[in-house]
Amino acid sequence: MFTNTRFDSWDLPQNLLDSLHSMGWDCATQVQKDTIPLARSGRDVIGQARTGSGKTAAFGLPILERCQATGKLQALVLTPTRELANQVAEEFGNLQGDTGLKIITVYGGTDLEKQAKTLSGGVDIIVGTPGRVMDMTERGHIDLESPTLFCLDEADRMLDMGFFPDIMWVIERMKNREQTLLFSATFPQEIIDAAHEFMSEPEFVLTNTEELDIPPIDMFSIKIGRANKLWALGRLMCRMTDTDQTIIFCNTKRMVDLAVQRLNKHRFVVEGLHGDLSQNQREKILARFKEGEVKTIVATDVAARGIDVDGITLVINYDLPVDLDSFIHRVGRTGRIGRKGEAWSLVSRDDAPQLSKIMATYGLDIIDSDAPELPEGIDRDPVTRQDDFGETADVFGFVTLHLDIDRSTAGSSRSVAHWFQSSLRCDEMAIGDVHFENGSTFISIHTSKVGLAIKALEKHDMAGQRVTGTVHE
Ligand code: ADP
Ligand code: MG
Repeated sequence: MFTNTRFDSWDLPQNLLDSLHSMGWDCATQVQKDTIPLARSGRDVIGQARTGSGKTAAFGLPILERCQATGKLQALVLTPTRELANQVAEEFGNLQGDTGLKIITVYGGTDLEKQAKTLSGGVDIIVGTPGRVMDMTERGHIDLESPTLFCLDEADRMLDMGFFPDIMWVIERMKNREQTLLFSATFPQEIIDAAHEFMSEPEFVLTNTEELDIPPIDMFSIKIGRANKLWALGRLMCRMTDTDQTIIFCNTKRMVDLAVQRLNKHRFVVEGLHGDLSQNQREKILARFKEGEVKTIVATDVAARGIDVDGITLVINYDLPVDLDSFIHRVGRTGRIGRKGEAWSLVSRDDAPQLSKIMATYGLDIIDSDAPELPEGIDRDPVTRQDDFGETADVFGFVTLHLDIDRSTAGSSRSVAHWFQSSLRCDEMAIGDVHFENGSTFISIHTSKVGLAIKALEKHDMAGQRVTGTVHE
């Protein structure tokens, strides 16, 4: 966690150096080393590091350096809870030494007017929770136009607690905001998106001081809908050689049972492992897995804990785990003692945000890939692929179909819509917009009718010619 970078190698103001010295802090932690110089240069910074890595000082020192003891509000720090507001304010207090800055906390659950009185004598820095800062602003106790520095601490927790609308409310009123710092232990996509909305060209600092060991293995993800996860699993499993062993992870016991059932039906020899099995059954299965009699097991996270089998070369996440650390624990099952391992994750559209979160949190490079081709000598998929238009549908369940027919041949959008409506004998509500572009025609059709629509095009001419329809992604 600590680096060799000494605080006194930075040209920090003397009073900050003095307080660091008296606190016994010599060297910066990784996140401090990476973010403090950027923040001091005035850049917007997004910092990620795990809990306990020294994020408070990472934003605290640059903020304290920029503030003057004038009694005019210059910086606002938002934290998700009252305890954190107190902790941050306390650390600021220690770090500032004899700078003389007035640092005041503002949070809910206490008398608002009483708290407001503490502000009346002037304040340089406020550390507060979003709701109370809003209330205080509305009552005229806080002037959000005053501070130029803004910091969001524990942004991921604020997001989980539903504070983002409040935060946006605050940001909109900070008319003179010049610099924004955002810190978080994890990075869900929503935070990255939101940050880009209210930060200007933020510099990302991701420090991976995770204690978890990330194995040196290749990681891939396959974007695939629920309907075809089993097909993709079949593709992955038929590449296994005699020396390979695999663990397939599912999130629930029920999914483990279903996956085992279906894989057995497709003639894969697999065993399920989950908490409903007796200790005895569990041990038997594990012993057979260790001996290599069973090449593949399907397991929940809990049941797989402690499995230590060197032959595991392939880990498959049938579902992405809900808990981020579980991902690391799962993939850590392979690639042991120098063996080459692979981890594949089957990611439906709903899982995609979770995948970004995992990648950002651990700085993982998970390669977006297609399902592997069938290996030589196998010419049929073990599991047949099904039509699945759900993954490409919009929120209303509509998919865009590309038709290789141009506007002049197709006629009007009405005639195209009408052709589908009558060939499919469907409700007009299932047929959406038609538009023409670059010599092609595009029509949106409800997922429930897309398969039929493609078949109808194969059977019947449209405007006197054969037209091919393909789903437009
Ligand atoms: P985070 O916000 O990343 O969870 P904190 O900022 O709360 O972490 O820091 C964790 C602990 O480490 C605190 O007690 C803090 O005072 C201490 N600390 C932070 N940076 C340093 C440093 N450079 N040297 C010594 N102690 C530090
Ligand atoms: Mg913190």
